[in-house]
Amino acid sequence: MIKLALPFLFLVFSTFSNCNKETTLTPAAVSQAEIPVSGGKTNKAPKNIILCIGDGMGLGQITGGLYSNSNKLELERFPVIGLHKNHASNKLITDSAAAATAFSCGKKTYNGAIGVDSEKRPCKTVLEMAQEKGMATGLVTTSTIVHATPASFAAHQPQRRMYEEIALDMSDSGVDYMVGGGKKFFDRREDERDLLEEMRNAGYTISDYFEEDFSKTKIPLQGKFGFLTADNDPLPLSQGRKYFKRAALSALPFLHSRSDNGFFLMIEGAQIDWGGHSNEGDYIVSELLEFDEILGKVLDFAAREGNTLVVVTADHETGGYSIIGESKMDSLEVKFTTGYHSATMVPVFAYGPGSEEFSGIYDNTAIFDKLVKLRGL
Ligand code: MG
Ligand code: ZN
Repeated sequence: MIKLALPFLFLVFSTFSNCNKETTLTPAAVSQAEIPVSGGKTNKAPKNIILCIGDGMGLGQITGGLYSNSNKLELERFPVIGLHKNHASNKLITDSAAAATAFSCGKKTYNGAIGVDSEKRPCKTVLEMAQEKGMATGLVTTSTIVHATPASFAAHQPQRRMYEEIALDMSDSGVDYMVGGGKKFFDRREDERDLLEEMRNAGYTISDYFEEDFSKTKIPLQGKFGFLTADNDPLPLSQGRKYFKRAALSALPFLHSRSDNGFFLMIEGAQIDWGGHSNEGDYIVSELLEFDEILGKVLDFAAREGNTLVVVTADHETGGYSIIGESKMDSLEVKFTTGYHSATMVPVFAYGPGSEEFSGIYDNTAIFDKLVKLRGL
């Protein structure tokens, strides 16, 4: 045993010391890691941040999308990959509210919390910090705009189901570009206020699915913009939802033109999670592939601009989804272990200035920490 162990130990130690050497950045390594710009400076700090959240998008779901799409995904273009630990402050299995608040505020909080800490105190979000820096901001989702994930960036409420209170926060948030469902929470409320009218009076161009198809709506060249894509939840892609791609991609030039200080945009593929809750593999895959197509275009934008950090992650895995049995690339046999979320770590993909910070394993709250540090918020 000793004879066998010694060479092994030597290997471990020599590998370890090599690693050490590599992490000590030599001047050459530094200049390689940074993206040179004119004037001899480096632009390691991103100007724009695009955070893309695939709700319920674990590695299983990504693999399902990959094999269902002839073994290719836009996600494969991301050079940096990490994993995050997504437990909530009060439960090992997180919900989307606690998980999104971890991203938005950098705090572990309880399930159901919308932009509040574990003591129910409002916490300043990365979106609000971006606004304070004069950045333009946007939220695009395939759920209602008052749903846990988008809400946690621009609202502060103790419970995710307080949709009318969340709508009031959102209407007052000053977010420049908002697209998602949930019209009824804005214009048919207990307090009888018409928040959409109030937003128009505050300078928004507001339209909705009832007035016109999103594909026909004129996205204004000036001012803020909101579009409500459904009265309640938007449809699944497979049942005719059409707005997501245009809404997400139009946000890029819109926000880009609004501020010289860059922008913060959150794009959510919300219904990957809903396919997981209903244990429907096809629902997961169709939603994931549309999200992935959008990621490809977002990457193209970031590659052109050169100063845009793109981070893609999930809030948690949903369904305990696995690919099993006699699966083939084009016909997957899948099984689920739950109708709720699972505790498994989920991946993080990053591209652009500062992206290397996202490799490794860390808490979901570190996503906030990294974004704030990199952008100087
Ligand atoms: Mg969500
Ligand atoms: Zn869920």
